[in-house]
Amino acid sequence: MQREIVHKLEDMSIRLADSHAHLDLEDHFPDQAAVLRRAREAGVLLVINVATGLADAPQVIATARTSPGIVAVIGVHPHGAGAMTDQDLAALDSLAADPKVVAIGEIGLDFYRRRAPEEIQQYWFRRQLEFAVAHKKVVVIHTREATPVTLSILREYRGRIKGGVMHCFDGSLTEARAFLDLGFYLSFSGTLTYPKAGGLRQVAEKAPLDRILVETDCPYLPPQPWRGKRNEPAYVVATARQLADIRGLTLEEVATHTWDNTLTAFGLQKEAVLAQYQAANP
Ligand SMILES: [Zn+2]
Ligand SMILES: [Zn+2]
Repeated sequence: MQREIVHKLEDMSIRLADSHAHLDLEDHFPDQAAVLRRAREAGVLLVINVATGLADAPQVIATARTSPGIVAVIGVHPHGAGAMTDQDLAALDSLAADPKVVAIGEIGLDFYRRRAPEEIQQYWFRRQLEFAVAHKKVVVIHTREATPVTLSILREYRGRIKGGVMHCFDGSLTEARAFLDLGFYLSFSGTLTYPKAGGLRQVAEKAPLDRILVETDCPYLPPQPWRGKRNEPAYVVATARQLADIRGLTLEEVATHTWDNTLTAFGLQKEAVLAQYQAANP
């Protein structure tokens, strides 16, 4: 029976990965079990669950431990940089030892909301990059209206950081190439489906197929069909479908490529991910 379930998962025509979700952010998902069931029914069999700080990091890891197909990313978002301390970094240190933690993030710079001064954001961005180097982890990067500084800081770590993902990428083709040159993957969110995102769709058309991912960034940024609603991992299919339209591929092809790319970006094995469903005895 369990073997049949895994066999069924192997045979699903659509197998998608949501490369960036916040399943444990505040109280956005009181119905998390139902949300994850819908994700699985939609073929979303891998979800990268990302912490925004120390408030949600322990639960992000707990969810990854108890739910199949979910892994954890922990770090402090640039919005939290203003209040970050050395003790916080020490707390992350003990959490990062958990085998469910596959990356450090989301970390970076946000000069749009600017909830912390730029210099403070840069300071903690570098400290957390050092942290990722020390833990031999890839990184998940948030950058908003800060691309030149984000790029120059990431260049300081060229050859030391193992790589990672530019999450919710919405830059130009030139910026895309610069991040790709540094070994990063580009992850497209539901914003790719928005009517005004013509420039981003041109980038998504030209980016190398083996370096692109799809994500929800849920509960935020729902794709066009669900604008105004809470976003959830099952909706990543709309972004994948948009990508398929842009590239003249089938949804199945985009799903397969972005699933494989997500596994590679985070150093995961397909068999190990699918085996979690077997172990969970659904
Ligand atoms: Zn972000
Ligand atoms: Zn996020």
